[in-house]
Amino acid sequence: MYNELNTSTRILMGPGPSDAHPRVLKAMSTPLIGHLDPEFVTIMDEVKTMVQDTFITKNHLTFVVSAPGSAGMETCLVNLLEPGDDAIICINGVFGGRMADIAERCGANVYKIEKEWGTVVTPEDVKKALEKCPKPKLLALVHAETSTGALQPLKEISDLVHNAGGLLMVDAVTSYCGVELKVDEWGVDAIYTGTQKCLSAPPGLSPVSFSDRAVKALENRKTKVQSWFLDLSLVKNYWGGAKRAYHHTAPVSSVYALRESLRIVLEEGLENRWKRHQEVHQVLKSKLEALGFKYLVEEPYRLPNLNSVFLPEGNDEGLIRSKLLNEYNIEVGGGLGAFAGKIWRVGIMGESCTLNHVNMLVSALEDMKEFKKG
Ligand SMILES: *Cc1c(COP(=O)(O)O)cnc(C)c1O
Repeated sequence: MYNELNTSTRILMGPGPSDAHPRVLKAMSTPLIGHLDPEFVTIMDEVKTMVQDTFITKNHLTFVVSAPGSAGMETCLVNLLEPGDDAIICINGVFGGRMADIAERCGANVYKIEKEWGTVVTPEDVKKALEKCPKPKLLALVHAETSTGALQPLKEISDLVHNAGGLLMVDAVTSYCGVELKVDEWGVDAIYTGTQKCLSAPPGLSPVSFSDRAVKALENRKTKVQSWFLDLSLVKNYWGGAKRAYHHTAPVSSVYALRESLRIVLEEGLENRWKRHQEVHQVLKSKLEALGFKYLVEEPYRLPNLNSVFLPEGNDEGLIRSKLLNEYNIEVGGGLGAFAGKIWRVGIMGESCTLNHVNMLVSALEDMKEFKKG
């Protein structure tokens, strides 16, 4: 016999998932209906409109991939890239590296712009890459690199890519609904995000959106998309079109949760939400610095919602992180790759972005015998 499911009540301050609003959890317990039930079709239409509103786009091809953020990444790349296409992929952390891996699997010629982790890609970097790869099908980069806490400026790079005739593809998994993001205004052609970061919904869905320029590229494909599940020419009739056709069975309960989380975002207002993340970040920053933590990323490129910090000297990060989790029920993230064992990634995302969360973390550290202030 197995015990009844009984998890600890955690405070989620890592790189995702973040704490979910009780309204979102309650929405998930709504009774199931069929995924082709007219009522569910209405729910899908509402979700699509709310995703357009939160991406700040009018893109018709906007929908939700029934799988996590990485599947949104793969959806963009497998649909836009054909074997032999040139693609520029910017890598300044884990997720840029993942995009390059997928683009190579698509058979594209991948030109990498590799930057030191914790820094961002500059327009000069892109100009240099365009000299070597003057006609890219696309340039892809990560808006908010969750492995390092860096926020990538997009506007200038967008102009450079478009002048070269390429498409701009953006990973907005961690930036969406946490920091300023304007898909149409910034000329983003393909974008994907996830539900478990600043949206504060459960993990497992990936809202995506494609511009008309990107749709043209899809229509001009010469080869079939190598993934059946992610092929937009098939999925698009499920999330839109005059007649809904069965493609797969949508994760009904997760879509309920997504709908409720989007409703909460729109009630608060996107601009207010961006501002809240900035304000709470400022408080967290001054308290962490007073304890001796040091930021990895330079101030102008620092993400407010994902704080990458070095611990004060003489602390065993693994020990303190596990005590935080096991004795104080607070989760913070450890470092990845080159920063494993060296930094913490403190997330204040969505519902986890409150002064209360900041105070709980700081008090726990002050209370813990093993933690040594810097
Ligand atoms: C979390 C994250 C992903 C991957 O999302 P999953 O839901 O874990 O697949 C991709 N890109 C960035 C920047 C992320 O933070």
